[in-house]
Amino acid sequence: MSARVLEAALFAAEVHARHRRKGAAEEPYINHCLEVAALLAAHGAEEDVVIAGLLHDSVEDSREDPQPVTVALLEERFGPRVAAMVAEVSDDKSLPKEVRKARQITQAREKSEGARLVALADKIANLRAIRRDPPARWPHARQVEYVGWAGRVAEGLRGLNPGLDAAFDAAYREALAELAARG
Ligand code: ZN
Repeated sequence: MSARVLEAALFAAEVHARHRRKGAAEEPYINHCLEVAALLAAHGAEEDVVIAGLLHDSVEDSREDPQPVTVALLEERFGPRVAAMVAEVSDDKSLPKEVRKARQITQAREKSEGARLVALADKIANLRAIRRDPPARWPHARQVEYVGWAGRVAEGLRGLNPGLDAAFDAAYREALAELAARG
């Protein structure tokens, strides 16, 4: 048992305390962070990578908070490697959405191995959510578009961990099958 992992889980729970997932069930956001971290741990990722999985949305999603989480704060609390991975998987919200989405595809392969694993686990969790509890305000076409985009991003992330690659493929197939059934 690792105190650091639980410390990161608690930190993420506090950051996301008032955040909800986009699905109709409005799941607490921390469920998503725990799912990403659990996927990484189940597929043998190192502790720093699991911790980065817990914290992967903490910088991006606290930007509007009175005291936003910074990469510097993560470095102080969890070390430079964790902080660097979180920085790598955080979108630059100053850019337009379409640019950010394109950059996730073109820059996937340039990320560190740990950041690629975290980003792939994040996409798996999001594809599973599309199937289980899809974003309530997303029309069907947007959900289909999301799955296709996630597949293109994953092309640049995969190749490091066969188990995670297989989990992505299953989540991708199942999300598409569910969307076809619903469409
Ligand atoms: Zn995420």
